[in-house]
Amino acid sequence: MSIKGIIFDYGFTLFHFDNPSVERYYECFKNGLLKSVELLKKKRIWNDKLTDELLIQRFSKKREQYWRESRKTKKEFPTSFIYKEVLESLQEENLIDKIDHLDEVAYEKLAEIYHSFEQKEWKPFPQTKETLEKLSKYEDIKLAVLSNHPNHTMIENSLKEYNLFTYFDAIVTSAKFGKRKPDPEIFYYTLEQMGLTINNECLVCGDEYADVVGGDRAGMQTILCERKYKFPFERELDVQDLIRIDDISEILKHLD
Ligand SMILES: [Mg+2]
Repeated sequence: MSIKGIIFDYGFTLFHFDNPSVERYYECFKNGLLKSVELLKKKRIWNDKLTDELLIQRFSKKREQYWRESRKTKKEFPTSFIYKEVLESLQEENLIDKIDHLDEVAYEKLAEIYHSFEQKEWKPFPQTKETLEKLSKYEDIKLAVLSNHPNHTMIENSLKEYNLFTYFDAIVTSAKFGKRKPDPEIFYYTLEQMGLTINNECLVCGDEYADVVGGDRAGMQTILCERKYKFPFERELDVQDLIRIDDISEILKHLD
């Protein structure tokens, strides 16, 4: 049987974030929140009596709450949904005026602004483009990105910015699907989006537990793209036949 598809993780597999730390992520999110206040002011939702701190405080609390829930349930709570929750509760407390005129597009725009500073930090690894270019020459291999990310637009924008978008037959995020890796359902859904089934041989390539354990549970061959440093609370990878590579260019050796 020959390989019909490869599913790549985004963060630390195709793209990297230089010197990542919790502080740097929070800095990006804080800048994103402050920028989103400008849009809320333009839409006459955020009035001059309200402080930026109020949004930061409310948003951080909700994000934390849903993050804990998502760890338990593997459900994804997109950033647009958190904005909606925060603004609705502020409206209930009569701290802001009616928000009926905010539609899905507006919440998505707020989420895009929120992640725009994070997006600037993500850059493709030096080997990413040339590897995708070589893979694109295999006509019968479909390619997909599958990312646990609360904003689908950021992943698409990032791929477009570096001219990588067109290499992929499917781009799936937990934000769009509603569940996170390692839930096997999101892997089956990705296969479907690629025009494949579980009977087709497909590789999953990622840098962590969610990728390789999830791919393994969904019955796929998994490849661990080893990160140069460890995350706190890294989980053990109890996967048989796990292939380990140092960067994604090495995937070419495992195609036959
Ligand atoms: Mg990753």
